[in-house]
Amino acid sequence: MSKLSNRVRKIVFSFVVCGLVTFGAIADDSSSQIVESQSLLLRNMTPAGPPASAFSAKVSKLVREMTLKEKIGQMTQLELGMITDGMDQDIHIDPAKLHKAIVDYGVGSILNVNTQALPAQKWQEIISAIRDEAQKTRLKIPVVYGLDSIHGANYVLGATLFPQPLGMAATWNPELMLRGSQISAAETRKAGVPWVFSPVLDVGRQALWPRLYETFGEDTYLATVMGVAAVRGYEGRNLSDPTSVAASVKHYIGYSDPTNGGDRSPALIPEQDLFEYYLPSFATAVKAGARTVMVNSSEVNGVPGHANKYLLTDVLRGDLGFNGFVVSDWGDIKNLVTVHHIAPTEQDATQIAVLAGIDMSMVPSSYSFSDLLFQLVQQGAVPMKRVDDALRDILTVKYQLGLFDDPMRGAETQTVIGSSASQQVSLEAARESITLLKNEGRTLPLSKAANILVTGPDADSLIPLNNGWTYTWQGGVEKMYPTDRPTILKAIQNKTGATNARYVPGTTFDKEIDVGKAIDAAVNADAIVACIGEWSYAETPGNIADLTLPDAQLDLVRKLEATKKPVILVLTEGRPRIIRTIVDDAKGILMAYNPGNEGGQAIADILFGDVNPSGKLPITYPRFTNRLFTYDHKFFSGSDTPEGRDLATPQFEFGSGLSYTTFAYSDLDVNPIKTSRELRIEVDVNLKNTGNREGKEVVQLYLSKRFASITPPLKRLKRFAKIDLKPGEERRLSFELTSNDLSFIGVDKQPIVEPGTFDLRIAGLTRSFEWK
Ligand code: BGC
Repeated sequence: MSKLSNRVRKIVFSFVVCGLVTFGAIADDSSSQIVESQSLLLRNMTPAGPPASAFSAKVSKLVREMTLKEKIGQMTQLELGMITDGMDQDIHIDPAKLHKAIVDYGVGSILNVNTQALPAQKWQEIISAIRDEAQKTRLKIPVVYGLDSIHGANYVLGATLFPQPLGMAATWNPELMLRGSQISAAETRKAGVPWVFSPVLDVGRQALWPRLYETFGEDTYLATVMGVAAVRGYEGRNLSDPTSVAASVKHYIGYSDPTNGGDRSPALIPEQDLFEYYLPSFATAVKAGARTVMVNSSEVNGVPGHANKYLLTDVLRGDLGFNGFVVSDWGDIKNLVTVHHIAPTEQDATQIAVLAGIDMSMVPSSYSFSDLLFQLVQQGAVPMKRVDDALRDILTVKYQLGLFDDPMRGAETQTVIGSSASQQVSLEAARESITLLKNEGRTLPLSKAANILVTGPDADSLIPLNNGWTYTWQGGVEKMYPTDRPTILKAIQNKTGATNARYVPGTTFDKEIDVGKAIDAAVNADAIVACIGEWSYAETPGNIADLTLPDAQLDLVRKLEATKKPVILVLTEGRPRIIRTIVDDAKGILMAYNPGNEGGQAIADILFGDVNPSGKLPITYPRFTNRLFTYDHKFFSGSDTPEGRDLATPQFEFGSGLSYTTFAYSDLDVNPIKTSRELRIEVDVNLKNTGNREGKEVVQLYLSKRFASITPPLKRLKRFAKIDLKPGEERRLSFELTSNDLSFIGVDKQPIVEPGTFDLRIAGLTRSFEWK
C-alpha cells in the first residue's frame, strides 16, 4: 500500500460517510420528499451485486485453463468496423471478419457504432451474431459490448435523450440524474449492450474545453453527488439485472483541465490540486461500485494518463480500492508513440501501458495490441501475473453482468425504447436545468397573446439542443433526429399560435443570413427571442481558440437590442461563450445548455411561465475570454477595466439562477458540537417562498477558512438541497457537517484540519465558528 493510503481513504470516507449521506438537508417535516429521496438515494453506498467474490472460484478455474493467446484476446477491444461491412444503416456482420476477431483472436470486447445510431433490433442482431461466434470458441467466454451512452442511449435509435450532463448538473437534482441513468441503462441493455462509457467524472474547470458539456460542471462536490447518482442509476441493485449496465467512469484523471483549453492537450495540475479537486468524484464513484474506469488520453505534469503507474495502480487500486478493470481510451497505447513521444515503438508503449495498469486496450482498429503483448509476455517483458490480474478483473465483470448465462439479457425485457414516460423524465430534467440568468423588469414570463419575433441560428433545429454524442459522434446529421419533437421555434408557436411567432433566422452559427429582415420584423414584435449559442461538436473537433460568441450572432443581437424592443437571449451551448457586449441591453437571459430533445418544449414552458425556472449554474460564466476562473478560486486581484468592470466578477456566478418567485433566508444557526470522538456541525436555516407562485430553490451551503497553511479558496460548496415551496410556505432545513468537511489536502498531500475560524454561508447569511 502506498504512502498515500491514509489520505485517500480519508477523502473517500469524508465524501461517502459525511458528505453524501447528508448532502441534502433534512427538512423538519415529512413533506419534503425530494430532500428525503435524495438522501435515501445516497445513503446506501453498497455497490451493485453480485460481489466479485461470488465468482472467484470460477474465474480462477478459467484463468488456469486459458492459453496466453486467449488471455490477451480478452484484454483486446475492437471497434464495430472490425467485424462488419457497409455503412450507416446498411451495416452488417462480415462473417470472415467476425471469425477472425472472435475465434482467431478471442477478442473480449467490441465497442460503439460505425458511423451512426442503430435501432435496438439491429443491435440485437449484431450482438447475437457476436454471441454465437463466441460459442464457437474453446471456452465460450462471452464478449462484452460497450457503447457511449452519454446523455441517454444516444446510439440506440429512438432512445430517450436527456440534457447533456452539464445540464443535468444544473438541475442540482440527483434524483433526476438517478432516474435518467436508470432509463439510459434499461434502453442500452434492451439493445443487448451491457456496458456504457459514462459518466464523465472529470470536473469541468476549463471553460474552453470542448468536453465541458459532458461533465457535471466545475465543482467537485456537485460532480461527485451527480456522479454517484449516475453510477447507481446505471448499475442498479444488481449488475445482472436485465435493466442494469456496468458504468465506466472516465477519464481518470486530470483530462478536463488542459492548460491551453484544447481537447487532448497537456495539463499541469499540482498533485495537491489533483487530489483536492479532481480525485473525489472518481474515489466516490469507485466506492459506489463503478465496475470499470477509462483513462485520460492526455498527460498530466508530463506523464500521459496511459503510462501513469502511480495514478493507475498505486492510487486507483491501492488507495481507492478499485477492483474492476481499467480500459484505455481510443488508440491511446499507440498514442504513447505518435502523440506523447514517450516510447519509440508500439511494443514499448504496450509494455509501459500494461505495466502501468491498463487491463483492456481500446485498440481499436487493428490486432497490433494482441500480437505485441503476446511477444512481450513470451519475452518476459510483461509478467504473466500482470496479464492474469487484468484477465481476472475482466472475467469477473463479465460474470457480474450475467453474460456467461445470457449475453443478450435485457433484449427480452418489457423496456420500451423512448417511451412517453421516459420522455417525461427527460422533459422534467430539461425544465429543471434551464437557468434564468437575467429578468429585468420582469420581462419574463411572456404573454401567450404577445407577438414574438423568433430569431437566431439555434431556434429551429434539434441539433444545438443536443450537441455531440447524438445519433452520431459529432451529432450534426439532421436527418437522424426525430421529426415529432419541437424545436424552440415550434414549441413557442405551440404556445402562441403560428401567426404570432414569426421566424427570421438572422444568422447561421457564424455568418449573416438576413439580419436586415430580422430588424424589419422587430417593428411589429412585442418581444424578441434570440436563440443563440453553439452548433454541435464532440472532443477535438470542438476545439476553439476564442470563447467569444461569433461576431455574426453578437451583431444580430446588438442590432435587435438597438430597436428597443425587449430582447430575450436563449443560450443553447455546451460551454459558456462570452456574451458581455449583449448582456446589458438584453431584458432576459436563459441558459439552456444542451437540454436534449425535450429542450424546445422546456424552454417554451419557461419563457411563457408554464414552468417556474429552478436551474442554477454548475459553472462560472466568464465575462472575459482571458479571465477564466472557477468560483472556488484563491484570492486574486481585481481592478477596474475601461468598462468599469471588476476583473474578479464573472458574468454570472456559479450557483446563480433566478425564479419567477422570491425566496427569503433567515435564522441561520451554526452549532459545532465536539465530542471526544468527532466534531459535528449542525446547521439550520429557514427558507420561505415570499412570492406568489410555487417554486423550487437550491439551498447551497458554502464554507471557507480564514487562514490556512495552504492559501485557502474563497469558498467551497459543502452541501445543497433542492426544495419545492408553495407561496408563503416556510421550512426550517438542517444540514450536518463533520470535521472531514473542514479538511483540505495539505503540503504533505494528506488531508488535514487546521484550527481556526471558519465562515459558513447560505445565500446572504454568514455565521462563523471556531475549530480549536
Ligand atoms: C473518447 C471516450 C469515448 C471513446 C469511445 C474516445 O475518443 O475520449 O470518451 O468513450 O472515444 O467512443
